[in-house]
Amino acid sequence: MNSLLLNTDGVQIPQLGFGVWQVPDDEAERAVSFAIEAGYTSIDTARLYFNEEGVGRAIARADVPREKLFITTKLWNDDHDRAEAAFEASLSRLGLDQLDLYLIHWPVPAQDKYVQAWKSMERLYKDGRVRAIGVSNFTIAHLERLMNETEIVPSINQIELHPRFPQPELRAFHEANGILTEAWSPLGQGRGLLDDPALATLGRKHGKSPAQVVLRWHVQLGNVVIPKSVTPSRIRENIDVFDFTLDPEDMAAIGALNNGTRLGPDPATFNWMG
Ligand code: NAD
Repeated sequence: MNSLLLNTDGVQIPQLGFGVWQVPDDEAERAVSFAIEAGYTSIDTARLYFNEEGVGRAIARADVPREKLFITTKLWNDDHDRAEAAFEASLSRLGLDQLDLYLIHWPVPAQDKYVQAWKSMERLYKDGRVRAIGVSNFTIAHLERLMNETEIVPSINQIELHPRFPQPELRAFHEANGILTEAWSPLGQGRGLLDDPALATLGRKHGKSPAQVVLRWHVQLGNVVIPKSVTPSRIRENIDVFDFTLDPEDMAAIGALNNGTRLGPDPATFNWMG
């Protein structure tokens, strides 16, 4: 498993992790336990997924020591003005005494509290409560504002990113500013994208599935990637992407699938509080 260096004092994040959005608490415990047995060491949850306890039970049960795991959770939209309390509540649901990565889940520009939230995250980082801090669904404008008005550059921005929506401008901005790009819905949520004949052709060429081809494309772009599945065979399949290489023409063929299709909400206007 490759790891990528965050811009924070030598902290490394596994390049491929396991996402648990829309997985109920009990099922999350089973799926995360299976994923850890299958070799995943990075888990991505959020307050809003309502499964931090299940993730925490899987971590507690795991044969892998805590320090070998990388756990991410996220600050929800209605907690921007009480980030430190929300953080401690998440940590307690996870059963942990320190978190690896805490993200602001959405900027919610309409409420204009993300700068305040970031200043609380900076305090959590400086106090050693969390090893790295970052954001999710931030646009270039939101990132620039944080960089102008606060001290610490986010280590990562977790954004919607898949072959139909590859976000080249935002990735270039991240790269220029030492921010890692983390791709959510990396498989385009499964159906649709994965049925594309171009991916089947590349899969046949490399002896891999369409999902593996897409995950390999992310790895070669330098993205951190967090596919979700609750199906054991797919959980195993999705981590088995480090033994083949896509050629430049394969990368270009996947790049040609870009049709600007966003699956999730637009971060500039999203203000749902849950
Ligand atoms: P995804 O792109 O990972 O797709 C998951 C779906 O693809 C599965 O439910 C399954 O139907 C299918 N699938 C998975 N593996 C497959 C395989 N090998 N073959 C065929 N089909 C397969 O979608 P996602 O769950 O939306 O995103 C992954 C993770 O990203 C989430 O679980 C969550 O952790 C994170 N996320 C974050 C945000 C955010 O706002 N920060 C938003 C959405 C998701």
